[in-house]
Amino acid sequence: MLHGFAKAALGWLYPERCELCGRIGRPAICEDCLAELVPSERPVDISVVGSPLDLTAHIYVFEGRAARAVKDLKYRRATSLAAPMAGLMNDAYSTMGLPDFDVIVPVPIHRSRENKRGFNQSVLLCEALPQELVFPDYLTRVRRTRPQVGLSRDERLTNLRGAFSAGPECAGKSVLLVDDVVTTGGTAAACSEALKEAGARYAGILAFCGESLRD
Ligand SMILES: [Zn+2]
Repeated sequence: MLHGFAKAALGWLYPERCELCGRIGRPAICEDCLAELVPSERPVDISVVGSPLDLTAHIYVFEGRAARAVKDLKYRRATSLAAPMAGLMNDAYSTMGLPDFDVIVPVPIHRSRENKRGFNQSVLLCEALPQELVFPDYLTRVRRTRPQVGLSRDERLTNLRGAFSAGPECAGKSVLLVDDVVTTGGTAAACSEALKEAGARYAGILAFCGESLRD
């Protein structure tokens, strides 16, 4: 009974608006903004020999509105972006031609950071994927790391070494990691290393957006 009234009041207080262009009366990612997301030129990439990461995939180029979406979700806690972004992740997951994965694991953030932020953005991005495959507990971030910004590639890799730990459930499985953004791939590689140490046979990552995969 109150539901309709509460909804109307909420709609008045917080009218639906696009998070990326600010226009009122539009969904959280409106059609115009959606059209401005730049699709990745090479969405699926097989990693170089010797890397613990077997496959890297990202949907959009990390620039413009895609980068805005990632940053606003994470740092401005614009959680209304989560559902449309998760939907785009699922569209990509089902149409990109990815190999079959046994399990899907969101890239973990450290518990202290998750408590402060209130959520892990990677977990939110898994919400439209087949839930029977999603296992956030398979991988944990055991060590809090310095922010990667401003570090050289070598420093980034050292910074991340030993930051993740995977459980024995991973043994023999092919694992698809999910993250909001993959840049140098250092985080994904460190996650894959932990998964492989726990016996995973294959590890790939699907990210909402990414930069060049070879740098
Ligand atoms: Zn918009």
